[in-house]
Amino acid sequence: MNPVALITGASRGIGRGIALALAAEGHDLIVNYAANAAAATQTASDCAATATAAGRAIRVEVYQADVADRSARDKLVQFTRERFGRIDLLVNNAGVAPTTRADILDADEASFDRLMNINVKGPYFLTQQIARWMIEQQTSAPAAGHPPKIVTISSISAYTASVNRGDYCLAKAALSMLTPLFAARLAEYGIQTFEIRPGIIATDMTQAVQAKYDALIANGLTPIRRWGTPDDVGRAVAAIARNALPFSTGEVINVDGGFHLRIL
Ligand code: NAP
Repeated sequence: MNPVALITGASRGIGRGIALALAAEGHDLIVNYAANAAAATQTASDCAATATAAGRAIRVEVYQADVADRSARDKLVQFTRERFGRIDLLVNNAGVAPTTRADILDADEASFDRLMNINVKGPYFLTQQIARWMIEQQTSAPAAGHPPKIVTISSISAYTASVNRGDYCLAKAALSMLTPLFAARLAEYGIQTFEIRPGIIATDMTQAVQAKYDALIANGLTPIRRWGTPDDVGRAVAAIARNALPFSTGEVINVDGGFHLRIL
């Protein structure tokens, strides 16, 4: 029986990289997306091909759900139950940047509400639902060899001030509290939680600021002088998923080329 992983926002970017990495390790997958059905279908078929190339047989399902919407979250969980009957890994990846960057002296409440709903409320309540299911599973039919895990993709913006997207920074700072909260609550059930904090990763989200980041990286912003890739993040999630950190929980893993280092 393959472990089952639900990845939010897996149609593109980092979520897609995570899906591909888990496919190669033999996870059955739910590829969630918000609007881009074609990208989600493409990711699903690429995951199946990746698994086959790695000598694994996996099942991949695609499911549209806006994580900010309560009834959509309910249906996503229900779909996962019906199709797979179990859950071993939740990856809270779905997230958005502000539609337009605005100085914090001008920024409006509509963008703030949108980011808080998608980037904080969605993952918090989806985690609550999945955590209840994982507890139920751990009590009735625990899977030998792969204890359930919850991985949340935050950002260096959780602690880095960008004054032209304060709503994003606030949302990611709030999201960072999800992992210690659920780590503390779920450890007694053998459920681990982790936060992955990506740095500057080449995806659609960062395309609009590519030239700015190219220059910053060339000038030494990150000790490892290159853009991160979705595969860099996928590898970190895969390491957690294959149980490489059995005595850790609530841990933050920086996937940022060393951005977080203070260097003198
Ligand atoms: P992206 O390329 O814009 O992809 C976003 C993904 O999230 C897409 O699959 C999108 O689905 C999905 N999504 C958006 N809103 C959703 C919603 N309401 N419900 C469900 N799915 C939704 O972004 P990315 O760069 O891969 O970012 C992924 C995560 O990493 C985000 O949480 C982001 O904050 C975080 N992050 C990114 C970077 C970076 O440098 N790129 C750095 C640190 C952290 P559709 O395809 O259907 O639109």
